[in-house]
Amino acid sequence: MRQSVVIIGVGIGGLMLACVLHRHGIDATIYEAEPSAHSRVQGGLLDIHADSGQRAIEVAGLRREFFRLVRSGEDAKRVVDQDGKILLDRVGDQASSRPEVDRGALRAMLMASFPDRMIRWGRKVASVTPLNADKHRIDFIDGTCVISDLLVGADGAWSRVRPVLTDVRPVYSGTCFIEIGLAAGDARHAASIELIGAGTLMAVAPGRGIMVHRNADGSARGYVALNKSEDWIGAVDFRNARAGLAIVAQQFTGWAPHLRNFILDSNALPVLRPIHASPVGIAWPHRQGVTLIGDAAHLMSPFAGKGANLAMLDAAELGRQITACPDDCDGALVAYEAAMLPRSRTIAHQSARNLEQFFGPDAPGSVRDLFGESGRAV
Ligand SMILES: Cc1cc2nc3c(=O)[nH]c(=O)nc-3n(C[C@H](O)[C@H](O)[C@H](O)COP(=O)(O)OP(=O)(O)OC[C@H]3O[C@@H](n4cnc5c(N)ncnc54)[C@H](O)[C@@H]3O)c2cc1C
Repeated sequence: MRQSVVIIGVGIGGLMLACVLHRHGIDATIYEAEPSAHSRVQGGLLDIHADSGQRAIEVAGLRREFFRLVRSGEDAKRVVDQDGKILLDRVGDQASSRPEVDRGALRAMLMASFPDRMIRWGRKVASVTPLNADKHRIDFIDGTCVISDLLVGADGAWSRVRPVLTDVRPVYSGTCFIEIGLAAGDARHAASIELIGAGTLMAVAPGRGIMVHRNADGSARGYVALNKSEDWIGAVDFRNARAGLAIVAQQFTGWAPHLRNFILDSNALPVLRPIHASPVGIAWPHRQGVTLIGDAAHLMSPFAGKGANLAMLDAAELGRQITACPDDCDGALVAYEAAMLPRSRTIAHQSARNLEQFFGPDAPGSVRDLFGESGRAV
C-alpha cells in the first residue's frame, strides 16, 4: 500500500485500527490532541462483548493478552430501589461472555501492540478540508497541517472529521452524569460499600439513579444520573464541590441514608457530564478518502454498554477491509460503511430504548427486568 493512512484520535477505536493495520504491515500515523499517554486517568470498567469487542481482539491477534486483563466475577449486578431494597442480585460469572477489563489496561495493551513512533501526541485537529479526489488537508491548532490519502476520524463525540461527511451533530439526551466515589476503609461508609455487592450497584427511580462499582481495593466509583434540562445543568455550580454535591443530593431526598452517602460523602471531583447521542440512524453519502469509526461515527448513550465495543469492531472491520484490498482503499471504505451503518443503527436504537427504561416511570422495576432478562449493562 503506497498511500498514507491518517487516523485522528487514540481512543479505543483509533488504537485498535492502528494495531490491525500494523499487524498487516501498514503503519498509519495517529494524531492525538492530548499531550501524552498519561495526561488523563483512563478509569472505569468496560465489559467486552463476544459479538463485537472480543471479535475485534481476535482480529488484532491479542486474545491471550486480553484474557490476562480480565477481572473475573466483576460483572456482578445488583439493582435496588430508593430504600436500598434488593430487587435483583446477579452474581458474577467467572466464565462470562462479557468479561470486564479496566479501560486503562485495555488501552495500554493496544498501545503496546505497535511502535510508539506511530502516535503524534499534542496534535489537536482544528479542521479538515477536502482537496482533490481522495485527499484531505488536516489543519492543527498549532498552525501546522498534513495531507492524507486515507483519513479516519476516530476522534470521538465532537469529531472534527465528521463535518466533512455530515452536518449532523450529537444532541443532549436529557440525562446527565455526575462523577462520585467513596474511599476504602472508612467505617462511616461500611453500609454503603456493603450494599454494592461484588460488582455494580444500580439504585434507580424515575428520573434519577446512583450507579457505583466496587473496586478491588474496597473503594467505590461511579455516577449519579439525573434527567435534567440543559438550563438546570448550566445553573449548577460545581466550583465548590461540597455545595454542588449538596444540590445533587437534594434530588435524592427521602432516599436511604446509605445511598445518599454516595453523594454527600463523595471524594470524587464532581465532574458533570451531559450524555449526548447522535440521532439514531445517522448516515452519510460515501466520500472518497475519508470515513469515521466509533463515537465519531455513531455516538450513543452508554445504556447498551456497547460504545467501546462498537469502536473496536468498527476499527477491526475497517482494518480488515483495507488490508484485504490495499490497492482499492475506496472499495474498502464502501464495504466497511455498508456493514457499519446499519449495525450501529440497530444498537443506537437499543441504547435509546434502554435509556428510557432506566429512568422512565417504571424504574426501578424496568431496570430489574432489563438485567434479569439479558444482562445488558451500562
Ligand atoms: C459514563 C460512560 C460509561 C460508558 N460505559 C461503557 C461500557 O461499559 N461499555 C462500552 O462498550 N462503552 C461504554 N461507554 C462508551 C465508550 O466510552 C465510548 O463509546 C468509547 O470510548 C468510544 O471510543 P472512541 O475511540 O470512538 O472515542 P474516544 O474514546 O472518545 O477517543 C477519541 C480520541 O480522540 C481524541 N480527540 C478528540 N478530538 C480531537 C481532535 N480535535 N484532535 C485530535 N484528537 C482528538 C480524544 O482526545 C480521544 O483520545 C461509556 C461511556 C460513558 C460516557
